[in-house]
This record gives sequence, structure tokens and C-alpha cells, in this order.
Amino acid sequence: MGDLRQAVIGPDVEHGVFTSKFESLLAWARKYSLFQYPFATACCGIELMATAGPHYDIARFGAEAPRFSPRQSDVLWVVGTISQRQGPALKRIYEQMAEPKWVISFGTCASCGGFYDNYTTIPGIDKIIPVDVYIPGCPPRPEAALDALMLLMEKIQNNDRSPSVVKPREVVHQLRAKAPKERR
Ligand code: SF4
Repeated sequence: MGDLRQAVIGPDVEHGVFTSKFESLLAWARKYSLFQYPFATACCGIELMATAGPHYDIARFGAEAPRFSPRQSDVLWVVGTISQRQGPALKRIYEQMAEPKWVISFGTCASCGGFYDNYTTIPGIDKIIPVDVYIPGCPPRPEAALDALMLLMEKIQNNDRSPSVVKPREVVHQLRAKAPKERR
């Protein structure tokens, strides 16, 4: 309910009624009912799969049901290395998704080609389709996938279509602070 309040415009909510912009309410509903299309090609896919288990529990965000038809999907997760031969298929799947649609680039390979610096690999999926959220890492942990999803939800609520990057979790900074100086 707290989140709904944030989506709501107007002070009347304290008195049992609320006023809102229709767009805000629609965005609020959309961000909690995302259907995902996992386009997984390589090792990163295992980390994304973990988010569906009880430990990470992506169902908390209303995004637990994968769809393997682009026509029923809102979010395209591109997970792993994309070769030149896979590029046209990926682009076609993106084009078959209905608007509004969003793209998450999971891992270094999807985002920039990773260490596959050769003629067979696309050096980042943003060369062929637009990306809303990039997740760094090789592979990123499941927590980063959840961070990306929450970031995307925030962007949907704010109607923000600029690309964003998932930031490292606070724990990384804490570990770095504890490490001896020469190892930082
Ligand atoms: S980023 Fe690393 S883990 Fe992910 S697909 Fe590439 S090599 Fe595999």
C-alpha cells in the first residue's frame, strides 16, 4: 500500500479516497505484472534461473511467470553471449513483442561481448536492439538480477526510458573497505 501511495497524486488519500493520474496508476499496475522472456544462450542463464527458486523468490515482484512467446512478454532478458548468427533471431523476437516493452542485458557478454572479442560475437546487444537496464558481471549473481528488476520497476513508474546500469551492492564496498590496501 505504501508504494501505491507513492504512485498516487493528491493529499486525499489520508481521508479514505485518492486522486491519481491515470498514467501513474497504470505504471504501478504494469511494474507489478511483468511477463519475462528469457533469451538465455550461455552460462549466465544458470544465475538467472536461480531467481525463480524459493531463496531469491522473484515471485515477490509479480514477475515469476516466464513466457516463451514474445507476443505475451513485456521484458526481454538477454542472458549470455550473442553470436552474429543469433543476432537476427534476437532482433526478430524483440520486434514481435508488443509495446510497451523493456530489455534487460544480463552479464558482460550480452552488454559488450565480454572477452569474446572476435568476429563471431556481437559486441553488445545494444548494437541491434535498445537496452533499458545493463547488469555488469561474469556472471552477475542472482541478487543483481533482482536489483535490475527493481530498477526497471522504478523506471517504469517514472516513465524513464534512458538506459541504466545496476550498481554494485553495498556489501561490495564494505568488503573493499575491509580488505588490505594493497588488495583493493
Ligand atoms: S558474462 Fe561470463 S558467465 Fe555470462 S555468458 Fe559471458 S562468459 Fe558466461
